[in-house]
Amino acid sequence: MTEPVIYQLGSPGREGVRLPKPDVPITPLPDELLRGELDLPEVSELQAVRHFVNLSQMNHAIDKGFYPLGSCTMKYNPKVNEDAARLPGFAHLHPLTDEDGVQGALALMYQLQEWLAEIAGFAASTLVPAAGAQGELSGILMIRAYHLSKGDTKRTKILVPNSAHGTNPATCTMAGYQVVELPSDANGNVDLAALRAACGDDVAGMMITVPSTLGLFDSQIIEIIHAVHACGGLMYMDGANMNSLLGIVKPGQLGFDVMHYNLHKTFSTPHGGGGPGCGAVACTQTLKPFLPGPIVEIVEEAPSVSANGAGAVNPLNDAPLYGLRMPPQSIGRLKAFWGNFGMHVRAYAYIRAYGTSLREVSRHAVLNANYVRVKLRDQYRLPYDRICAHEFVLEGRFEGVEGVHALDISKRLMDYGMHPPTNYFPLIVREALLIEPTETEDKATLDAFIEAMRKIADEARSDPALLRDAPHTMPIKRVDEVRAAKQLILCCRPVPDWAHQAAGD
Ligand SMILES: *Cc1c(COP(=O)(O)O)cnc(C)c1O
Repeated sequence: MTEPVIYQLGSPGREGVRLPKPDVPITPLPDELLRGELDLPEVSELQAVRHFVNLSQMNHAIDKGFYPLGSCTMKYNPKVNEDAARLPGFAHLHPLTDEDGVQGALALMYQLQEWLAEIAGFAASTLVPAAGAQGELSGILMIRAYHLSKGDTKRTKILVPNSAHGTNPATCTMAGYQVVELPSDANGNVDLAALRAACGDDVAGMMITVPSTLGLFDSQIIEIIHAVHACGGLMYMDGANMNSLLGIVKPGQLGFDVMHYNLHKTFSTPHGGGGPGCGAVACTQTLKPFLPGPIVEIVEEAPSVSANGAGAVNPLNDAPLYGLRMPPQSIGRLKAFWGNFGMHVRAYAYIRAYGTSLREVSRHAVLNANYVRVKLRDQYRLPYDRICAHEFVLEGRFEGVEGVHALDISKRLMDYGMHPPTNYFPLIVREALLIEPTETEDKATLDAFIEAMRKIADEARSDPALLRDAPHTMPIKRVDEVRAAKQLILCCRPVPDWAHQAAGD
């Protein structure tokens, strides 16, 4: 890394801001709060703006180019959602405002709860969980609360297929359960014989990622659900990535008892930088009393006749009265206040924009993934060669080519202006490259990606060093990823020599 440019540009006395005249008396700051040694660059307004714009463009973003990162579904954050979430009536709400003062916000949340329940074929939902993993924890704690409510204390195990998302076994362990890992069969489905052997009266339930992290819809899902129900267990579906199922499959109708969505993967809310998310949980009527709260309920139905005496219809009286309530046997609260409300607004706007054509999202997600899969399968190993859902896995290794890994392919893809796919996940595929084109990319973009991947396969065979040294065109070369994460240099001052040495420059 070169010295941060802004330090080279700074010159003493240059100013970038002109502060407005203060409207309070000027009071000098106490000496002990003033620091003389801070060597901050003095730059003009344009220099500062250009510095930060240039920095922002050193990173790849969905607004700059293709982003086929797998197991993260949609990469589409409609700008109109951002406008909706910034409407002052929403953005300036205070979470402690009385319910009468936030009826509009509660109506939005109520409607979103209803839609999320309906889309998945369930009786109820909650918007409280702040992430997919928190949704999982909610669902597993609900399953536990359900068994305990019946005095059934012998169930200590949850079954988790080895094609599950990594959060699944982690969640079950956090909830105090013992995880029983189930193998996959040669087609990438859950091994039914192993499942049947594991079922028993000590099984609290099963947690299954659908589609699995192999991008596959388990073709024996009904048999799986029946087997687990037959031994008294409940079925949890990790529906973080529902993009391939919207309007096509309702998990509640398949027989699942509880699931979570990731609104930040399926309903367009932003997903970057570990920001606020929503892992909404939907469930059956039986599990509804256990939902984490509060959830929005109608506390008073809309009066059918206006109450203003003059006979005219008063639109305000036409709406029901909404309130935030804890379900009767709730597992409790998972988060302060009411969840990430700004995300609820965005997901609401997204679902409304699509309306009944939400199904088109899924049809395109599946079509795009399968198009790319078929166009690459003669160049890359495809461990499960069958119709995929919204994503698929390739192996990043080539017959007769030593020392080329999935990571090298990913780094080389950056030279073609595209974000790498997910690497080394799922764990059950060697040199995994998990590719998810998403529903929002057009054919020309998919073709450009296919061409880049095919060129990279040629390069791997003819000039493997080109891949091993990639990227060649990025602002920084290949970094030591472990060190880059553990010894992050966040200082904006010129990087000291010792840091260059430590980083092996
Ligand atoms: C992303 C993901 C999760 C975890 O969601 P977070 O919001 O990151 O906690 C769980 N399961 C699957 C299948 C996922 O893709």
